[in-house]
Amino acid sequence: AQNTEEARFRFFDPSMQAEVQQRAELEAGIRAGLERNEFTLWYQPQYDRYRTLLGLEALVRWHHPQKGLVSPAEFIPVAESTGLIIPLGEQLLEQACRQLVAWAEHPQLSQARVAVNISARQIHTPDFVERVSAILERTGAEPSRLELEVTESMLVQDVDNTIDKMRRLRRLGVRFSLDDFGTGYSSLIFLKQLPLDKLKIDQGFVFELLTDANDAAIVRAIVALGQNLELAVIAEGVETLEHCHTLEAMGCHEYQGYFFSKPLPAAELEQWLITSAP
Ligand code: C2E
Ligand code: CA
Ligand code: CA
Ligand code: CA
Repeated sequence: AQNTEEARFRFFDPSMQAEVQQRAELEAGIRAGLERNEFTLWYQPQYDRYRTLLGLEALVRWHHPQKGLVSPAEFIPVAESTGLIIPLGEQLLEQACRQLVAWAEHPQLSQARVAVNISARQIHTPDFVERVSAILERTGAEPSRLELEVTESMLVQDVDNTIDKMRRLRRLGVRFSLDDFGTGYSSLIFLKQLPLDKLKIDQGFVFELLTDANDAAIVRAIVALGQNLELAVIAEGVETLEHCHTLEAMGCHEYQGYFFSKPLPAAELEQWLITSAP
């Protein structure tokens, strides 16, 4: 008992306590935010080399009543560790599907796909396929216009089961892209097994593409890998025209980044398409 006392004493650290409290507040905030519909998706366009709009990545934004706009980097990790990402993810997927339906007759957006980020906790829920199917049915969204972004690290867990889920969703027409590619550790054999449609080159490799020979070599290797596995390859974090030209010369034909546009609320994106799109 004394040891426990001692340990408790030794490990008492005010900054640690502040952190625990902050997390608890964040958790309560997310819970309340879910009920008050404070989470909305913003959309960032994706283009090909002919400046044809291919799709939009949906990125969550939290409109906090006191704090204003809160970045996903701040609350997604807590939503994941508390499991709140499951109801949140479900709400966001439904929002994205409703947006797809709203854009079904839009002159520029009717053919665009919407890519939704999926977290590990979500894809590993036993009824993930049923939940996604139910949302597609409920909203009437066209499954082939829905793309799900997953990461390597979440796929190495419970591989066979996860692959099976992806296959079932792909049979409905849903597409899968592998996000942050190049930052994980999966083997190429593993990659070949996955039912994927697209690789997303992590923005970390794109930022210094022009100045860092290692990053350039990695991007070239990912493009070649994509070609061999017959996967589309998109680069994210494309911030300049030089990025675009260099990527194009390397055989990468799809781009997403601030060079085109930051993520925008749906209504602003529609406006931007009329006034300033490439
Ligand atoms: P991610 O999926 O890798 O998303 C790309 C991030 O890069 C986004 O940050 C986007 O705004 C930002 N970005 C896009 N183009 C550029 C560029 O040219 N330069 C720079 N510097 N940044 C760029 P954001 O929106 O803050 O999202 C951060 C992360 O939060 C996302 O990284 C994703 O992991 C997570 N996230 C966002 N929305 C969702 C969601 O709805 N569900 C889940 N599970 N995670 C989400
Ligand atoms: Ca993403
Ligand atoms: Ca990414
Ligand atoms: Ca670098």
